[in-house]
Amino acid sequence: MCGSLAHADPAAELPVVAMALEAELLAKSVRGTRTIAAADFFRSFLTTALADDELLTEVRFPALSPRTGWGFVEFARRRGDFALAERMLVVSTASAVPARSSWTDGRSGPA
Ligand SMILES: Cc1cc2nc3c(=O)[nH]c(=O)nc-3n(C[C@H](O)[C@H](O)[C@H](O)COP(=O)(O)OP(=O)(O)OC[C@H]3O[C@@H](n4cnc5c(N)ncnc54)[C@H](O)[C@@H]3O)c2cc1C
Repeated sequence: MCGSLAHADPAAELPVVAMALEAELLAKSVRGTRTIAAADFFRSFLTTALADDELLTEVRFPALSPRTGWGFVEFARRRGDFALAERMLVVSTASAVPARSSWTDGRSGPA
């Protein structure tokens, strides 16, 4: 999981999931450990907020609130190919919880 997230391939599923679920990513180096929100982690195509000497060591996914559902769709030209586009949506019927959506066009990274 950490390898896929650190690689930040815009066609990969896990970065989109991490964004939609508002994951926290823990980066470790000789300077210590810092926590990076998924929204701040992915910068662009194959580019993250990790410094050259940092390793991603842990990913935390907050538990979903009760009465929350999600959907994930991806499009590929052939079954099993890397996706050309993906979208994940998280929706709760509890009014205090805003809907969250994350997507990638397969080229520029999750947004
Ligand atoms: C045939 C094939 C099909 C695939 N299909 C899919 C698919 O359908 N969906 C999908 O999402 N992916 C797919 N992948 C990609 C693959 O799943 C990811 O590349 C893999 O998960 C990366 O994880 P890894 O641990 O092997 O990382 P590596 O390949 O070992 O590393 C990837 C990069 O991240 C860096 N890195 C690795 N771990 C860390 C870490 N802990 N901290 C910081 N940097 C790190 C490495 O230095 C390297 O630059 C496919 C790959 C292949 C070969």
